[in-house]
Amino acid sequence: MSMDLPEGMKLIDENGRRLDGRKADELRPIRIEAGVLRRADGSAYVEMGKNKILAAVYGPRECHPRHLQDPTRAIVQCHYNMLSFSVDDRKRPGPDRRSVEISKIVGEALEYSIFLEQFPRTSIDVYIAVLQANAGTRCAGLTAASVAVADAGIPMRDLIPACAAGKVADTVVLDLNKEEDNFGDADVPLAYIPRTGEVLLLQMDGHLTQAEFNRAIELAKGGCSQIYAVQQDALRRKYSIAAGENGGKEEEARGNEA
Ligand code: UDP
Repeated sequence: MSMDLPEGMKLIDENGRRLDGRKADELRPIRIEAGVLRRADGSAYVEMGKNKILAAVYGPRECHPRHLQDPTRAIVQCHYNMLSFSVDDRKRPGPDRRSVEISKIVGEALEYSIFLEQFPRTSIDVYIAVLQANAGTRCAGLTAASVAVADAGIPMRDLIPACAAGKVADTVVLDLNKEEDNFGDADVPLAYIPRTGEVLLLQMDGHLTQAEFNRAIELAKGGCSQIYAVQQDALRRKYSIAAGENGGKEEEARGNEA
């Protein structure tokens, strides 16, 4: 955020187009697949622009470490991990401040949505692996994780779509990419449930006026609504295949792959 813009680089051109050709209110292309891992109880794969993210969910299962066990409800243990090869400079493996923060906020959003009280003493373990990062990975990670929780058959209030909005070159834009994140002025990740209007994650890095903030939230809510539809479609696709619709062809292909 707020690094100096390299000579000649224009984040928004005279036609209002961004470096990757998007308009201010456009999301990067998004693709979601549910149920991509055999071993996990639930899983999902998300591509959002150049981000590539896998989420795996195990549980509800016996809670380790035992002292975290809650006799009244399940806990969510979320592990966000950016792989060494996911960024241009090799990322030092293992947890760091950033991954601890992201694991915490993503886990809290999931805890809010899942009916935890139905599974006392257990743990729901959520693993988010960032295979390729290009800004917005906490949002894409939460988007993936909530599809994986649904895929695991864990009862939840709703899916959780998430995306960021922010400010680059004096313009409020949706879903910042890496260059926009690095050289822009502000980044506001939001998780928002369109059906209920609830906000489950909201952060801000940088500075915005009140009016710019309101516009950023409006854009991010619009982005979440679009992502929500893609999440639902991913689950529908998986279960229509499992139910033998599509002539079972895709399931055969998937079975051979695994
Ligand atoms: N990033 C990186 N190395 C790091 C951490 C982050 O290259 O050690 C990049 C990565 O592309 C990431 C982006 O910086 O997506 C923005 O990171 P931020 O902390 O804002 O989180 P995110 O936007 O991914 O949720």
